[in-house]
Amino acid sequence: MSSSIYDLTLNDLEGLLASWNEPRYRADQIWQGLYLQLWDRPEQFSSLPRSLRDKLSQTFAQESSGSFSTLSPKTVLESHDGGTRKTLFTLPDNRVLEAVLMRYERRRTLCISTQSGCAMGCVFCATGQMGFGRNLTSGEIVEQVLHYARLLATNNEKVTNVVIMGMGEPFHNYASTLAAIDRLSHPQGLNLGERRFTISTVGLVPAIRRFTAEHRQINLAISLHAADDELRSSMLPINRKYPLSLLLEACKEYIAKTHRRISFEWSLIEGVNDTSEQARKLSTWLKMLRQDGSLLVHVNAIPLNPTRNYQGKAANRQRAEIFKTTLESYGIPCTIRMRRGIEIQAGCGQLAGQSLTTSMDPG
Ligand code: SAH
Ligand code: SF4
Repeated sequence: MSSSIYDLTLNDLEGLLASWNEPRYRADQIWQGLYLQLWDRPEQFSSLPRSLRDKLSQTFAQESSGSFSTLSPKTVLESHDGGTRKTLFTLPDNRVLEAVLMRYERRRTLCISTQSGCAMGCVFCATGQMGFGRNLTSGEIVEQVLHYARLLATNNEKVTNVVIMGMGEPFHNYASTLAAIDRLSHPQGLNLGERRFTISTVGLVPAIRRFTAEHRQINLAISLHAADDELRSSMLPINRKYPLSLLLEACKEYIAKTHRRISFEWSLIEGVNDTSEQARKLSTWLKMLRQDGSLLVHVNAIPLNPTRNYQGKAANRQRAEIFKTTLESYGIPCTIRMRRGIEIQAGCGQLAGQSLTTSMDPG
């Protein structure tokens, strides 16, 4: 199997160059070429001696394209307002993944994937409906950001935020996800600080504990969607393994140890989880996370996005507002997020690795 230059840390690169008897500073030059200049072809590294460029090319360039990139953009879809752009990429083993760019005021937020498909089977999620393909390598995660960083650079723009809310469950691919963030936040490269990243998890409790122990600056979001075990298990099968009591205990520990806020994701589904009973139960759970007089929680409610195999309907604006005000009456802050990129299947939970024509096919 060919290796990817994007899987290497700066240390790895230094080790490799030492083994090739090259001076150390060449590693810095290559690193900066990859992550500051955003070069992806060996010939762009013109400050390197020819022999070293050739060696890099032989070791890391893809045979088909001559580029270091292992992701091939296949389909690009842009929303009518131009604010959202979704790219479907194929990988050398023909797996697929998607990444989305959202332009909103000054923000340039990327939503990236950590797996091709997902093993968690949440019933309302298109990625869950397609099943599990495989984990992405850290390099494949990194490349999604570099792809869009290059695109934005042509317009003198930069990536400002990265949400790890694309295909897959990031904590089911923990090491590669964190390694990718390390590479993207490296000060000698892209230098996207950890605070610009948000990891969203379905609630894998042991991984949340591991993450807590690392004391990172990365933002954490938890996909909650239901405030009692029966309902949550019917929507998110992982709840049978890690029920709400265990999940919220891990959240409490996270807040206690890191003093960082947690966002709770809630896809509003009419008559299912947008009721005042659910809002009340949710606020009871979240109030238990209060520590030292402060409540470091926030609820992000987003009307459900349609997917092929789930019949539930999005809560309408009015019901969403009532849900929000009910939570607020219990002292829980809540934001109703805008739905974005629905018509190009780029909304939360709509990434299914299919082109638009396929995903809109009613069959
Ligand atoms: N696997 C992670 C991150 C990817 S999903 C997780 O589940 O948290 C990103 C977010 O989209 C999650 O909050 C998920 O619950 C939500 N989501 C999934 N399907 C959705 C849909 N059809 N409409 C709205 N949100 C959805
Ligand atoms: Fe996987 Fe998240 Fe979709 Fe659930 S919501 S199936 S965890 S991607």
